[in-house]
Order: sequence, then C-alpha cells, then structure tokens
Amino acid sequence: MEFNYCCSICNKTFDIVPDLNLCPDCSKNQQADQPLSGVLEVKLKGFVDKNFAISDLLPVEPEFFPPSPVGNTPLWEPYNLRKKTGFRNLFIKDDGSNPTSSFKDRASFLVSAFAKKFNINDIALASTGNAGSSMAGIGAAAGQTITLFLPKAAPPAKLVQALQYGAKVYRVDGSYDLAYDISLAFSQKKGGMNRNTAFNPMTIEGKKTVSLELFKQLNQAPDLVFVSAGDGCILAGVYKGFKDLKQLGIISSIPKIIAVQAKTSDALFRAYSTGKFKNIPTSTVADSICVDVPRNGIHALAQIRQFNGEVMRVSDDEIIRAQASLSRTTGLFTEPAGAAAFAGFLKAAPGIDPDSLIVVMTTGNGLKDSASASLGIAVPETLIHSVDNI
Ligand SMILES: *Cc1c(COP(=O)(O)O)cnc(C)c1O
Repeated sequence: MEFNYCCSICNKTFDIVPDLNLCPDCSKNQQADQPLSGVLEVKLKGFVDKNFAISDLLPVEPEFFPPSPVGNTPLWEPYNLRKKTGFRNLFIKDDGSNPTSSFKDRASFLVSAFAKKFNINDIALASTGNAGSSMAGIGAAAGQTITLFLPKAAPPAKLVQALQYGAKVYRVDGSYDLAYDISLAFSQKKGGMNRNTAFNPMTIEGKKTVSLELFKQLNQAPDLVFVSAGDGCILAGVYKGFKDLKQLGIISSIPKIIAVQAKTSDALFRAYSTGKFKNIPTSTVADSICVDVPRNGIHALAQIRQFNGEVMRVSDDEIIRAQASLSRTTGLFTEPAGAAAFAGFLKAAPGIDPDSLIVVMTTGNGLKDSASASLGIAVPETLIHSVDNI
C-alpha cells in the first residue's frame, strides 16, 4: 500500500513527513477564530481484500506501534435496550474501554508511532482532557515525553490521569481554544511533534480504525452511526475509514453519519445551518465536546454535506438523562460526551426504520467525570448504622 497526504480543500498531494501539518497553500488563508484551513488527509493507493489487517491500511509500519493495546473495542449487543426501543439491530461501540478509557487513544496510537518512526521523542498538545490523558498514557508506553496544555475547567480525573502517566502539564487560565493556540506556539518554539487534533493529520487517520473495526465486527458497514462532535475530528475519522473501505471496493456505500452536539456548544450545527463559523463562547456538561471553534470544522462539514450526513443537538439535560438511562439499561457507563451520541439516537429514534443497523459510539468511560455523572442520580444522604435503620 502507498500513502500520501492530500489537502482536504485544494486536493494537492504531498509526501508524508513529520514537519508538514497543514496544506502550505490553503493554510495561508487561515482566519483568526476560524476552523483550520488546509487540513491534510492521508490517501492510500493499493489493493486488499475484505480479510485485510487494519495495520495494512495505516501509513506507519507496525514495528513503530506503541506497546499499548489500543482499539479492538467491544461492540455491545444491548438486549434490554433493543427490547425497550424496538431496534433489534442496535449496537454500541464502546471506546471507553481503550487503554486510557477514551476514543482518543486511536489518534494517540498513530501519532506515537509516526513520531517513533522519525525518531521524535517529544510530543505536545492541547486537550479538553481526554486527548491529553490519552497521549500521556500512550506516550508512557512508548517512552516518549508528553507536554500537555489543559484548560482550567478540565475534569480533575483527566488531569490526574495525565499526571499519573508522567506528562508535563500546563494548566491554562482560559478555554480549550486558548490552550490550543498556546500549544501550537510551544511546538513552534521548542520543536518536536504536535498532536493537536486535526492539525496533525495522523489524528484523523488514527481515528479511522473504528470504522475498519466496525466493518470487521459486523461483516458489513452499518446503516447509521451516531457520534458526538466537538472539533469534528472523530467524525472525520469515522468517514475516513468508510471512505477507504469504499475506495478499496470492500463496501459499496458510506453509512449515514449523525453528528450530535450539545445545544450549548453547537458551532458545527450552526455552521451546518448558516454556512458560517462564528466564534462565541460556549459551555456544556459534556466537557469533551465543549468547543468554541471546531478545529476540523471546515473539513467535517464538507464530509457531512458530501455524504448526506446530519448534525443534531441535544440539551445538557437530555445528555445527563441519557447517560443514566444507558447505564441502567445496559451496564455501560459512559461520560457525558459519549452519552450525547446516545441522547441523539433516542431523540432521532421515532424517524428511524426499526430494522436499520445502527451503531451508537460511546467515546469515553463514565468514571472520567464523576461530578457530571452525579447530576443524573440521587446519592443517599443518610448514613445507617444497622439493618434496623432500613
Ligand atoms: C474528543 C471527544 C469527543 C469529540 O471528538 P471531536 O473530534 O472533538 O469531535 C467525543 N467524546 C469524547 C469522550 C471525546 O473525548
């Protein structure tokens, strides 16, 4: 298999080298407070049959892979939920079961391998929490040095996790968007690799593995995929995996992908409706999808339009209720950003053919943010001393 980079805007192609992140031409048009211009996608050239190995479709050779068992996450067949909702072909892809408990490991894995291949030992990034703790964990496995810029509102568990893995952590007095800008300036000053989402093309490319796995687990592509979206990088990764499979002749069409955003952090949704990205400060209980300027916004929106996807919104209240409802009907406890995808499914369900093959992606483990999860339950307040108190 051969690989190169291709600009998602002008389609120019480039060799894959570590110091190229965005299209040199299209990134010149970058406007302040706007999504990245000139995001690069990996393009593959070659043939495999439907028994391909996932590593065959990745642009870094397995000898450079970090020793961390990323991916191959379980595809749940939630019996009670199927019965309750009437969707007998409903599946949940649980990426909270990755080594650092979030989907982000798919990107960190490939970025780590890419850095290793070019003897780069320092990796820096900004994160709302999960990308940082993920890169810290995968970097620890690979023996790489990770520098992380976290907004002050990041949930404590994600901060603690990154520090446990030995990352150098800077806490930013501001939002994720400020952390993103500082981390880019840091990389420019100090060198090394930058793993910022969408900026580093290996992030989208690593995330595509979820679609390759879904194909292997289902022996076909699903009809519908629900996935939450902040920067829109997971969304682009999901599309990229299916696009590769279609290009290789393994599937015949791209599934319908529904991106779910929080009502109070809905930049992608607004741009989907108005055609324009507008930087307004946002907040939501689902911290992992709390993004003012979606870094992969232009690219993600183009994919949604090209493949007839949709963007929908759910309220924080719907997210918190969906989280508890998923936990108690399936035994799968996901963080609010993961529950947002499920809330989106519940909301869209009345309009969906009950025979559809549906995948809801839960992207992070619920224990990553117990403060948010506690909003959806009642913690017993009285303490008992003996069974006579009951
Ligand atoms: C990062 C993240 C998302 C959203 O991914 P984007 O690429 O920012 O759209 C969703 N869920 C979880 C748990 C995440 O960590």
